[in-house]
Amino acid sequence: MKPTHIEHIGIAVENLDEAIKYYENILGLKCYAIEEVKDQKVKTAFFMIGQTKIELLEATETDSPIGKFIEKKGQGLHHLAFAFDDVDSALKSAGEKEIRLIDKESRPGAEGLKIGFLHPKSTFGVLTEFCGKK
Ligand code: ZN
Repeated sequence: MKPTHIEHIGIAVENLDEAIKYYENILGLKCYAIEEVKDQKVKTAFFMIGQTKIELLEATETDSPIGKFIEKKGQGLHHLAFAFDDVDSALKSAGEKEIRLIDKESRPGAEGLKIGFLHPKSTFGVLTEFCGKK
């Protein structure tokens, strides 16, 4: 089982509107969706480049995964998301290979995708997301 492509790159930002301006005005990309994921206390903005997206993440509350990340490390690269045809089997398979999973089973993420995270301690420092349609 291997990923089909890099689905998106997640970037933590303090101010979504300011960050969107950079991606639109300097890089010439178009923000095609803004979505709040209540579960994660985060507001996301998406840009498409080829088949890969940039996902900007702004915390809606300081006591949230992105809020804590920014408090500790500041803004910047947050996670890398690989697309899989079957997210749950990919997570299961990684778990069987002694990878520490944050999510043993997938949960709903932005854009109606199923998502699950691998712990950065098991992935050489990169918070890794598996995601896909099923
Ligand atoms: Zn993500």
